[in-house]
Amino acid sequence: MTPLYETDRQREAREMGERLGAKADIYGQRLRSGYCEVHPDVPEPYPCSICHFEGERAEGQRLLDAQYEQAMWDAQLAEYEQEHMAGACVGLS
Ligand SMILES: [Zn+2]
Repeated sequence: MTPLYETDRQREAREMGERLGAKADIYGQRLRSGYCEVHPDVPEPYPCSICHFEGERAEGQRLLDAQYEQAMWDAQLAEYEQEHMAGACVGLS
């Protein structure tokens, strides 16, 4: 809260404190305005183009994982059915 009355010196101290306590990026460094929070070297505000790229890549990886998992289930199901059918055939003979 800003005091109603403050001397120039008090105001300077308060503003200095606000600057020192200013928002830091995820690496604990001072956040440079106009730079990405996640990629402090990228002179674009968050989310920068690398953020977008990594987001898309993560989404693509998630889809690949889902496809892989589905393929694993299909393979296990096929294996199970094969064993089941083989067992049934043995039982019939
Ligand atoms: Zn970024």
